[in-house]
Amino acid sequence: MTKRYNPNKGKINRNYSISEIALLYGVHKNTVKARLRRGLKRIDDHRPYLILGRDLKHFIKDLRTINKRPCELGEIYCFKCREPRIPAQGSTIFEAESSRFGRIKANCNVCNSLMNKYFRLADLVLLQRHFAVILPLQQKRLG
Ligand SMILES: [Zn+2]
Repeated sequence: MTKRYNPNKGKINRNYSISEIALLYGVHKNTVKARLRRGLKRIDDHRPYLILGRDLKHFIKDLRTINKRPCELGEIYCFKCREPRIPAQGSTIFEAESSRFGRIKANCNVCNSLMNKYFRLADLVLLQRHFAVILPLQQKRLG
């Protein structure tokens, strides 16, 4: 991914749907959904998902940083520190989100804010080795 997106395209005080962001940046809706899996924050879990313009702007700015400083295995990008961070000891939780994807939740070892990282379930064993996980895979409750 080498395309540069202008972080100032959206207005910080309005909410955007996935389709609106896709239109704004001339990308496919699936690209926006993939961004949500990479850490773009949505307002809540209600559909249709809405993204605050301010979060969109920060995320697009952070994308550049992420691309410049990729996370090592065992690290998660902390959106507050704007750096890849190692999870605080014992804070890492693996959750199955679907039959193919899971999510790692952990607290940053520097600022303690919640970090998220999506991964393919196929990579679970490899990742668990690097994140020194004590807890087993948690199944997310549906409904
Ligand atoms: Zn942090």
